[in-house]
Amino acid sequence: MSVGGTGELSTKRTIRAIHESDLEQFLESVNLLEKARQGELKCADCGEKLVLKEIARIRVHESGISVYCYRETCDNSGGG
Ligand SMILES: [Zn+2]
Repeated sequence: MSVGGTGELSTKRTIRAIHESDLEQFLESVNLLEKARQGELKCADCGEKLVLKEIARIRVHESGISVYCYRETCDNSGGG
């Protein structure tokens, strides 16, 4: 029995697929909601400006918060 191909072992510590209102609550809790509403947040990967509804994922670091857009190319956590 052989197993070939891709190993899909990813342990992303990412908040995703959360409801929009939950997103707002979270952003508010970290004082980013205002920035998000004003489009001042940028995707931490591609650098694209994001408004609230464009935020697909949020990563929480010890040093801060990173937000990501919906692009598939920004879905990779780079081995985090
Ligand atoms: Zn992006």
